Amino acid sequence: MTHTPVPVFDGHNDTLLKLELGARKGSPRDFLARADHDHIDLPRAREGGFAGGFFAMFSPSRIDEDITVRFNPNDPSHFAPLAQPAALDFTLRMAARALRIERASQGAVSICRSVSDIRDAMARDSLAMLLHIEGAEAIDADFTTLETLHAMGLRSLGPVWSRSNIFGHGAPMTCPASPDSGPGLTDTGKALVAACNELKILVDLSHLTEKGFWDVAAISNAPLVATHSNAHALTPSARNLTDRQLDAIAETGGVVGLNFHVAFLDPQGRFNPDLPVERMVRHLDHLLSRLGENGVALGSDFDGCMVPRAMKDVAGLQVLVEGMRKAGYGEDLITRIAHGNWLSVLERTLQQQDVAP
Ligand code: ZN
Repeated sequence: MTHTPVPVFDGHNDTLLKLELGARKGSPRDFLARADHDHIDLPRAREGGFAGGFFAMFSPSRIDEDITVRFNPNDPSHFAPLAQPAALDFTLRMAARALRIERASQGAVSICRSVSDIRDAMARDSLAMLLHIEGAEAIDADFTTLETLHAMGLRSLGPVWSRSNIFGHGAPMTCPASPDSGPGLTDTGKALVAACNELKILVDLSHLTEKGFWDVAAISNAPLVATHSNAHALTPSARNLTDRQLDAIAETGGVVGLNFHVAFLDPQGRFNPDLPVERMVRHLDHLLSRLGENGVALGSDFDGCMVPRAMKDVAGLQVLVEGMRKAGYGEDLITRIAHGNWLSVLERTLQQQDVAP
């Protein structure tokens, strides 16, 4: 029996970063044309059933080189602090890139500012982009940039990447290691969470230290969300979530997106390109056991990680859907994991009603 592709709305990719770095290196790539390298462009997205997702704007510590190619988790220069003006400049370039892609696409790509925008785009077969900031170095302590980027279309933000900034501290990518790797949010970071709640910007827990995770859990009035993290019980990377963390997310009706990066899936945290798709499904099994059928989604990390060779790029996305079928997942559960759970938690976060006192 052959299936039509299940539409996927995905929790994380670094495609805007890849496009920006490619342009800087003098080898610009057209998002609307098919390429044979990197992970996402419009033709390959359509082929794989990728209906859209969170598009991260990440400002690397070393803006002069492509860290996703030569990234070394043991090289501290990749985790060096980044000044706000440099991060804002880089973020605005990625935002402008997204806006230009939308305009050039003539309806084939849509920047979405609400869940109804996402549903409309998916119904029109237009790729839905939700703009996300990964590591809030571009945001100033008075939140002037938060207000203006929100007005531009920003709907999701991770206070930190795996480095320190004025808002808090990130978990390293070491394995085996506990996510309890350092301090949590600063007072400015706590104020940022409150400001995001007020603007109804989703706060992403991925990359936070465990202390930072509990700080957000204590402050935020929205469902807890980790856009691209896996189960620490199966792969003890500091970037993955312990069962206690998963249970806390479940209590709020939150969501975790499965990260496709082989080092966050492999039992020993190895960079193993031959990692079998079944291993991704084992992580889904574990996430489902703690979060339930409404709490698990996908957060590929395409264009920012090493994806299993069996999938290769976004065009191969349905091999994971097939893997879920082989493991006995029903079509209803597959649909929730593929896009339903993201739409539900985004609906409850972006349109969340203020609780009466
Ligand atoms: Zn990330």
